[in-house]
Amino acid sequence: MNSSHLNIKNWTRHNLREWFQNNQKSSSGNQSYRADQVFNWLYQKRAQSFDQMLNIGRETRKMLEENFYISSQKIADSLHSQDGSIKYRILLEDGNSIESVFLPHKNHNTICVSSQAGCGMGCDFCMTARMGLIRNLKPAEIIDQVFTVLQELKENKKIRNIVFMGMGEPFHNYNNLMQALEILTDEHGFNFSHRRITVSTSGLLPKIRRFGQEKIKANLAVSLNGVSDEVRTKLMPVNKAYNLEKLIKACSEYPLESRKRITFEYILIRDLTDSLQDAKGLIRLLHGLKFKINLIPYNSTADGKYQAPSPQQARRFQKYLLDHQIVAPLRISKGQDIQGACGQLAVGAE
Ligand code: SF4
Repeated sequence: MNSSHLNIKNWTRHNLREWFQNNQKSSSGNQSYRADQVFNWLYQKRAQSFDQMLNIGRETRKMLEENFYISSQKIADSLHSQDGSIKYRILLEDGNSIESVFLPHKNHNTICVSSQAGCGMGCDFCMTARMGLIRNLKPAEIIDQVFTVLQELKENKKIRNIVFMGMGEPFHNYNNLMQALEILTDEHGFNFSHRRITVSTSGLLPKIRRFGQEKIKANLAVSLNGVSDEVRTKLMPVNKAYNLEKLIKACSEYPLESRKRITFEYILIRDLTDSLQDAKGLIRLLHGLKFKINLIPYNSTADGKYQAPSPQQARRFQKYLLDHQIVAPLRISKGQDIQGACGQLAVGAE
C-alpha cells in the first residue's frame, strides 16, 4: 500500500458500485455486483486482504489492490471494569487515539463508539470536552471500532445495540456519521438493524431536523441535563445557540416511527439538577412528547467541580417520574471504576 491508496471502508456500496462501473473494462459487462461481493467479504466475513476474496476474479482483485487498502485498528490498551464493561483505547492511523466501550447486559450487549477525536462542544461536566476537538473521524474509523471491539472480545459475544455516545458530537461530523450508518446497516454488509442504533446529540437543532428526514431511521437521543436555560447553559454551552424552547419544539416536530420515542439523557448532579423541583420541571418541559428519560447519576471526577447525587436522592428523583407514568431507567453507570461512563471518555485527560 502507498499513500495514494484509499481506505475501502470509507466507501458506501453505492459509491463502490459506481467505481466498478467507471473502472470496468468495456468487454467485461456490468461489474457493479462486485461491490455487493466486496461488502460481503469486508463486513460479513471480515476479510483482511483482497486475496481472501476468492469468488472475485484475480484481475479484479489486483485492480482493488492497486487502488484500495483495508483498514484495521490497533488497541493501545484496555481497562476492565468490575461490572464487565471494557474501555478500549484505540489508535488511529495518524497517531491520535479514541475510546470505545463494550457494555455487557444480562441478555444484550452494547458497543459505544466515538464519532470524533475529542469534542468541541465544551460541556462543563464532560472529560472529553477538555481535549477540545482534535478532528472528525472518517466513516471507516467509526465502523472499525465495532469490528475491533468484536474481535477483541474472546468469546463470540452478540451485539444488540450500537450507541454513538462515546467521544464527540456525532452531528458535528454529520456526513461521515451518515456514511458510517449506511455501511453498518447495509444488507450486503454488516446488516445491523437501524432500530438498534442510537445517535446521541447535545442538541444541534438543524441536524436534528435533517436527521429526522433521513432514510436510515436510527434512534435519536438528546442530552438534556437541565430544565432551565440557566442550568442547561451552565452545563452545555450549545444551549446559548439552541435554547430549551427551540430544542423542545424541534423534538416535538421530529418524525418518529410508530412505537419509537426520543430518549432524553438527564444527568443527576447533586444540588444542581437532582431536586424534586427539577423532576417536576422535567415533566412540564417534556409534556406532549413521546419520550423516555435515561437518568444518569453524575460520576464524581478528580477535580470535584460537580458532585454525584446521593443514591437515595437519585432514587427519589426516579420514583417521582415513575409515579407520573414516565419511563425513566436509572442508569447505574456501567464502567464507573474505569472512567468509561457517560462524559468520562477522554484519552489522557483523566
Ligand atoms: S457530553 Fe458529548 S457533546 Fe458534550 S462535550 Fe462531552 S462528548 Fe462532547
